[in-house]
Parts: sequence; structure tokens; C-alpha cells
Amino acid sequence: MTDAEIAALDAADPLAALRHEFEIPDGLLYLDGNSLGPLTKSARLRMREVVEQEWGQSLIRGWNDHDWMGAPRRVGDAIAGLIGAEAGEVIVADSTSANLFKLAVAAMQARPDRKVVLSEPGDFPTDLYMLEGTVRTLGGGRRLELRPAEAIEAALDEDVAVLVLCHAHYKTARIRDMARLTAAAHAVGALVIWDLSHSAGVLEVDLNGCNADLAVGCGYKYLNGGPGAPAFLFVARRHQGSLISPLSGWMGHAAPFTFQDAYDPASGIGRFACGTPPVLGVSALECGVALSVRAGPKALRAKAAALTDLFVKRVEAGPAGAELRLVTPREAAARGGHVSFAHPDGYAIVQALIARGVIGDFRDPDIARFGFSPLTLSFAQVAQAADILGEVVAGGLYDRPEYRKRAAVT
Ligand SMILES: *Cc1c(COP(=O)(O)O)cnc(C)c1O
Repeated sequence: MTDAEIAALDAADPLAALRHEFEIPDGLLYLDGNSLGPLTKSARLRMREVVEQEWGQSLIRGWNDHDWMGAPRRVGDAIAGLIGAEAGEVIVADSTSANLFKLAVAAMQARPDRKVVLSEPGDFPTDLYMLEGTVRTLGGGRRLELRPAEAIEAALDEDVAVLVLCHAHYKTARIRDMARLTAAAHAVGALVIWDLSHSAGVLEVDLNGCNADLAVGCGYKYLNGGPGAPAFLFVARRHQGSLISPLSGWMGHAAPFTFQDAYDPASGIGRFACGTPPVLGVSALECGVALSVRAGPKALRAKAAALTDLFVKRVEAGPAGAELRLVTPREAAARGGHVSFAHPDGYAIVQALIARGVIGDFRDPDIARFGFSPLTLSFAQVAQAADILGEVVAGGLYDRPEYRKRAAVT
């Protein structure tokens, strides 16, 4: 693609202006918004306001005067619009890990005669760890069974209480067929939990259109909520009255400020809250979510598909095309917002890129992963990043000892 053709893509991009709502250091090609979304200008201002005015001046009155209590529901309602849910079906709370535990235990307890949590090997580690913890905590012969993607449907039987899957895979970006797998699980009476960590804010997700039961997702990736932002969870309205969170904290109580001894769960999505909401974190997340809402899932998805397409084609047609093995689906409709290439020196390649201002990340054992946040990147930047990757790999520029030293976070 010529420079003029790339400039034309940027000129026609309906999301182009939103890039300026972020504070990204000059000259940086940031291809890691799928791991930590960049700072929004609105969050920088809002954090100041929350800290200095609301916390600083209002103190305890902030809970009422600034509706701190309502923030997890309010931001949950905004996220709902991005994932095909209704207001009142999503709440912001805890981490993705903790939310998965809450929903997995609740789902297993809703199917007390069934013993199996079914999932996929190679899914994001915390998901599998939390599911191990779920069956260990519940005991009674419950177990976690892992089956490769292509064998999941065949493994669904009447002993499966809950199927847990990532909608877009964190390494390969492969998208699972939410409607089909949900229907297959329902056909044997199982519930499904979808992890939307790599989907919310970048793909079109239609939870209710797929008749989904439960979902969790991350606030600090494509939703740009900031490091360690609180996560979200979805419970379809039809399940809200019957599922009970195992972390039955007072913020999920019907009337926390009546200080009763006995737990009486709130009637709606609020029962899946646990402790006091992290007001600073929810406030920053609200700013990020607002930008995704402004763009809308359709435009976000279309741009992510176009950016990943440009990157894949340009890298493969470039000087390193033969050395890098694409592990992401080639058809845009089958992949999420990131692209992964395998290479035996993947780690060193990512470090050499970072030294040149191109930030991606590495996933063991050999994957160089690049995220294409549709809110924050231009087509010209993506083309430039592909060219630098080609130079680094084809020129062997990564082959230096300092690029092989492993840091704690890759
Ligand atoms: C990022 C991510 C998480 C994050 O979990 P935390 O509890 O925030 O550490 C969980 N699951 C998946 C699939 C993810 O991609």
C-alpha cells in the first residue's frame, strides 16, 4: 500500500479525532493498548477533580454528594451498551480474576448435581487458576476439565455445570462463536461464562443476542481504565434472582446501611458487588469507557479489523515476511484486535522494538504480540510499526545480549 493510500485511510477514518483524546508520549508507536490502554485526557482531569475536590473537600459526604455509591452501576450501564447487554445487567467491581471466581462458584451452585467446569487449555492463566480454586473450594468431587477448542462441543454433557471460555484469545486473538457455543451448552443444561477481556471496547459483542448467561471482562485493556482498573461482570437478568455470590460482602446486601447480621442479597446486579467500590479507579475507568461509547462498537470493530489487516499484510509482504509465522487468524472476522507472530527470538525482537519506540509485548514461549486499539492508533502509525518490525527482524537488529535479559513483566 502506498503512502497516499494510507493517508486516504486516515482521512476517511471516522474515529481519527478520538486519538487526540489520549496522552501518548510523542514519537511512541504504542501497540499495547490491549494490555494497558493509554491515559485519557479526561481521566487526567477527572482524577484531579476526584482527588482534590471530591475526596479532598467533600470527604465522607462524597458517597452521597458525588454519588460514589452509584458509580459501579453507572459505569456498568455504559459498558453494557458496548457488549450487547441492558442497563442493570453489568456492574463494575473487583478484578477480572475475582469476578470469574464469584460467577463460577455461583454457576456451579446453581447446578448442584453436576461436577464439571469445562474450559480450554492455553486460555489466560488466571482464568484457569481461578477455576481450579473454584472446584477446590466447592469440593464434593467437582473438577476442572480442559479440552482443546475443537473438542469443546463434544465434551459438553449432562455432568457439565458451567463452560468457561475467552471470547477472543489473549495470544492468538482467535474469536469463539459465542452464539453457537452458548446454544450447545444450553442444550445440555449447562451455563456459560464468557471472558470478554480482549473483546470489550474492540469487538461487537452481543451477549443478549447470543442468550448469554454470564460474563466478565477487564477495565484496563481496550476500555482504557488505567493500570489495575476495576473489572466488570455481566449477569443476564433472568439469572439475577437465583445466583448468589460466594463473596457475600455488604455492598451486595439489599440494605448495607441497616447493618443487619444476616446476609440478604440485593435484588439485581448489585448483589454481585462485594466490598466498598474503588472510587478513584471507577472514576478513571468511566472516562475511558465514555470514549468507547462515543465511538460505538461497530466503528471500533471495523477499524480494528482494518488496522490488523494492514499490519499483517505489510509485515508479511515486507523483508521479514518469511521469518515471522502468523499465529492469528488471517481472516479479520475470525480475530480480535491484536496480531501475534511467532519467532524463536520473539522476546529479543520485542525488546529491540521497544528500544526503537514501538511498544508491543511478548507472550511465552515465542510470541511477539501487537495490539491495535482502534481509538488510539492511525493507519500511518501502524504502517510505520510494521516497517520497523520488518527492519529489526530482517536486519537481525534484535540479536544483542541486552535484548535477551528477561524483565518481570513481559
Ligand atoms: C487481562 C485478562 C485478565 C486479567 O485479570 P486480572 O484479574 O485483572 O489480573 C483475565 N482474563 C483474561 C482473559 C485477560 O485477558
